Amino acid sequence: MSKRDYYEVLGVQKNASKEDIKGSYRKLALKYHPDRNKEPGAEEKFKEISEAYAVLSDDDKRKRYDTYGRVGADEVFRGSEANFEEVFRDMGFGGFRDIFEQFFGRSGSAGFGGGDFFGFGRRKGRDLVYNMELTLEDVLRGKKEEVEVPRLEKCDSCSGTGAAEGTKPRRCSVCNGRGQTQRVYNQSRFSTFVSVEPCRTCQGRGEIIDRPCGTCQGSGKARKMNKLKIEVPAGVEDGMAMQVRGGGEESESGISGDMVVQIHVKPHQHFERLDSGNLLYKLDVKFTDLALGSEFRIPMLDGSEKLKIQQGTQPDSLIRLKGKGLPRYGSSGRGDMLVKLNVRVPGRLTDRQKSLLKELEREFEGHEKR
Ligand SMILES: [Zn+2]
Ligand SMILES: [Zn+2]
Repeated sequence: MSKRDYYEVLGVQKNASKEDIKGSYRKLALKYHPDRNKEPGAEEKFKEISEAYAVLSDDDKRKRYDTYGRVGADEVFRGSEANFEEVFRDMGFGGFRDIFEQFFGRSGSAGFGGGDFFGFGRRKGRDLVYNMELTLEDVLRGKKEEVEVPRLEKCDSCSGTGAAEGTKPRRCSVCNGRGQTQRVYNQSRFSTFVSVEPCRTCQGRGEIIDRPCGTCQGSGKARKMNKLKIEVPAGVEDGMAMQVRGGGEESESGISGDMVVQIHVKPHQHFERLDSGNLLYKLDVKFTDLALGSEFRIPMLDGSEKLKIQQGTQPDSLIRLKGKGLPRYGSSGRGDMLVKLNVRVPGRLTDRQKSLLKELEREFEGHEKR
């Protein structure tokens, strides 16, 4: 979430056309492409604009991003190849694969979900989902939470090898540690057929454990509590999700997946959330409050506020308290608090109230006739 808005990254408007987005990416890619720009930071910049382009150049992903503010890390580049090839070819750069393998493939971090998507690099661990409940007060201030998440990590006793203390896994002699065996079938005199299958002796692991570790029973994994700091920025909306890089499970090769924090905003007892940071508060008033003018103290997310009703205010009026709403997500400033005046008519009247109202009625009628 510390990430900048994809539209901002590419310097385009929210309603930019596909052509605009492509044009803008092309311009920026020319500037920051690592073949041309050796300045520090250029590579990071290139990654950032490429990630933004991968999402915004794809209708589905763009729609998801517009709605939820994020697209799953492992999906960002999936299926984007054609969009990139097109731009790169025009510019005379190498293909999508060359460039992205260089940046994302081996690190196993940004974008590719560990890089196993193109068959290179190592696999990353599974993503975990954490559901976080927020009140509107939390949305106003943002929320920091430390959570403990159970996840599979390397077993300490055997440092992840799965072998008992003082022993080591030995290389499988059947497959020579490759984990695969080849079978050659002679189909005819002229053709042979080769099949590759997982080694049966070592179950495809490439190594054999003679004495399994007592702590993890040879799996090399242990369930541990992982402490994670989650910082939710102010202004988030229900249904948004944010990503904590490296907060997921650890893979065989020690690369962690991500934690996906799913935001749930609870309904509030006083306020209803409207668009762009605005809040709605419904205030019950009497006819006389409007006719004569009045003053109320109404609750706010932080404290309370004095509300003045002008004499002669009409029913269903909205009174706007500027800047007293929620922070606007992804932009600056706060929305407003809108107070809607609900006129309540008393169901029951005392005799005196009744006669006073009748007198008032006659007074109004007399006034009209005059
Ligand atoms: Zn083997
Ligand atoms: Zn172990």
